[in-house]
Amino acid sequence: MSLLEIDNLSVDYRVGSGSLRAVDHVSLRVEPGEAVGIVGESGCGKTSLGLSIPMLLPGNAEISSGSITLADHELVGMSEDQLNQLRWSAVAFVFQGAMNALNPVQRVDRQILEAITAHEAKADKHEATERVLQLLDLVGISPARAKSFPHEFSGGMRQRAMIAMALACRPSLLIADEPTTALDVISQAQILALLSSLRRSEDLSVLMISHDLSAIKRVCDRIIVMYAGVIVESGRTEEVLGRRGEPAQAAHPYTQALIGAHPDLHGERVLAQGLPGHPPDLSKPIAGCRFADRCPYAMPVCREVVPPTLAISAGHIAACHLLSKGAS
Ligand code: SF4
Repeated sequence: MSLLEIDNLSVDYRVGSGSLRAVDHVSLRVEPGEAVGIVGESGCGKTSLGLSIPMLLPGNAEISSGSITLADHELVGMSEDQLNQLRWSAVAFVFQGAMNALNPVQRVDRQILEAITAHEAKADKHEATERVLQLLDLVGISPARAKSFPHEFSGGMRQRAMIAMALACRPSLLIADEPTTALDVISQAQILALLSSLRRSEDLSVLMISHDLSAIKRVCDRIIVMYAGVIVESGRTEEVLGRRGEPAQAAHPYTQALIGAHPDLHGERVLAQGLPGHPPDLSKPIAGCRFADRCPYAMPVCREVVPPTLAISAGHIAACHLLSKGAS
């Protein structure tokens, strides 16, 4: 059984007197020890999808359909008390810009210690203190720096401290939302290397939400591409994005456009191509393919019929009429 199973999940936001559907009947799986990346432009639904797993959606959002099963626990419909038992211990979340969430007037070790004692009421104080030092060591921060205040850390160190805090109660799933945003390139590389090594050393599953294809490529076994609230393609990262020196085999025009908009440091030197236009207004009904207004291959059928999701190879799927037999 998968560690995380999401089936037919829809998330709606109340906006003014209406509503918009940010996540529309999305299904996915994350296996134990697997790293899965969710990629897409801002507003594609990836963060709403991530926040719905630990039920941390904002007040104007609701799960309108579907189920989320984490390690055999159905999370949709759980009480807040039941969810609090699972947050941090089964699933932890590193929020976008998390490094700025540290309390500026409290020492870093104290903040991580509080995360442990808040979720493990019976934790032995001495053992918990030892665990804080081990966690800091695990994320590459010398335990000698444990008594520092956040402002004495670099951005990369603060982000690593937040990851240490997220691991404080030994979760089996870590959800990281844009974990490298706002960091310099060296810190970005360090955080990505850290996530990769934690997966193995801590037997951790990772769900990484990012707009950065190179970050996904570096950490994730599988990639899920979202557009306007739906999954348009998913598959093994090295197949969809291509291994170093080998061409990408992305099948969906949106994934191809994302790849084309992303500079490749290892491939041929080509000018990155921007993706003109905007995603559709999700507060209005959309007929056919949601990418049709921006797709260079759009056909009449694309504006009328929702493209079916088709298998391209083992574990690689995409939803595009071009893949249907007889498409011209
Ligand atoms: Fe483009 Fe049509 Fe495929 Fe949508 S279904 S991505 S509009 S070709």
